[in-house]
Amino acid sequence: MFRILLISTGLGCCMAASAQFHTVTPHTARYRIERVEQGTAGKTTEVTEKAATEETSTDTTSIRKQWIDSYLSVSYPLKEIHVTSPFGVRTDPFTKKRKRHNGLDLRADRCETYAMMHGIVVKTGQDRVSGKYVTVRHGDFSVSYCHLSEWRVKKGDCVRPGDVVGISGSTGRSTGPHLHLTVRLGRRHINPVVLLQFIDKTRRQALEKLSHATK
Ligand SMILES: [Zn+2]
Repeated sequence: MFRILLISTGLGCCMAASAQFHTVTPHTARYRIERVEQGTAGKTTEVTEKAATEETSTDTTSIRKQWIDSYLSVSYPLKEIHVTSPFGVRTDPFTKKRKRHNGLDLRADRCETYAMMHGIVVKTGQDRVSGKYVTVRHGDFSVSYCHLSEWRVKKGDCVRPGDVVGISGSTGRSTGPHLHLTVRLGRRHINPVVLLQFIDKTRRQALEKLSHATK
């Protein structure tokens, strides 16, 4: 299970630092993702350096397993990540007007698309905007994979990180093959980059710890 925590909206620090009025827009919000132990609501198990070193002297094998589990707890949504259109206000490719892009576009042409974390498929469907899509719930937030050419999961499926949820495509309101990711926390759209950064950080940290453990 994972959850997204709102760390700050930028309002407090901007006001305090300059004592002036600043426009606060939703995308200035800072979020942090935490891993939550299943079955122990609210109890977080962030795999931190401190947590690992506390046990190093007693059980190296279990620490190695902890970091391997940490590495395997996340997956990039595609084999290669190239952002083609960021989250936020942009010129709409259809209307040429300024409009908020509620997700992140990644380059992908009929590529396997992977679940980024452990979760439950809460919806698969098709509409004029998103085309074929899959929505996976991970704790208190959900991720939608849009413009797919094929679904590879169905509602109710439990997915692990790296499981193929679909094949990317260009269905729906799309100018060409790509993967559009949407991350929702309640009604709010979150920049999916937050997730990609979390995945990157988790994997780098685990690899670093494992490389030290084998020396
Ligand atoms: Zn998009």
